[in-house]
Amino acid sequence: MNNPDCLFCGIVAGEVPSEKVAETDLAMAFRDINPQAPTHVLVIPKRHSPTLTELAGAHPDAAVGVLTLAHQVATDEGVAGGYRLVCNNGARAQQSVFHAHAHVLGGRDFAWPPG
Ligand code: 5GP
Ligand code: ZN
Repeated sequence: MNNPDCLFCGIVAGEVPSEKVAETDLAMAFRDINPQAPTHVLVIPKRHSPTLTELAGAHPDAAVGVLTLAHQVATDEGVAGGYRLVCNNGARAQQSVFHAHAHVLGGRDFAWPPG
C-alpha cells in the first residue's frame, strides 16, 4: 500500500509532517503547503495510486472515500455552499504529486474556464 518514494505516502505514514484536518479509514485531509484560496485542503486516499481515476478503477471504495471526505471537509470549513473540487490528472494538467488527491478550494469566488 505504501510507496517509499512517494511524498504523500510519507504524509499518510506520519513520516512527513502535515497539518491534518480530517481522516477516515480510507482517506486523509491536510492543508496544502502553498494555498491558492482561503480554504485549500488536499484529500488523499491512504492507499497509494498515481491518479484518482486509476484509483477509481482498482479500488472504487477508496475513490468514493476521497469524494466523501472532500465534502465533509468543505462542510467543516464552512464552504459547502460553493467550492472548487480539482483533480489535476496527469502532468499536462499540472499534476505534480503522483499520489491521487483532490484539492478542496473555497472561501473566494472562482473563474471559469480554469487556466
Ligand atoms: P498537484 O499539482 O499534483 O495537483 O498538487 C500537489 C499539491 O501538493 C500542490 O498544491 C502543492 O502545493 C502541494 N504540496 C506539495 N508538497 C507538499 C507538502 O510537502 N505538504 C503539503 N501539505 N502540500 C504539499
Ligand atoms: Zn503515495
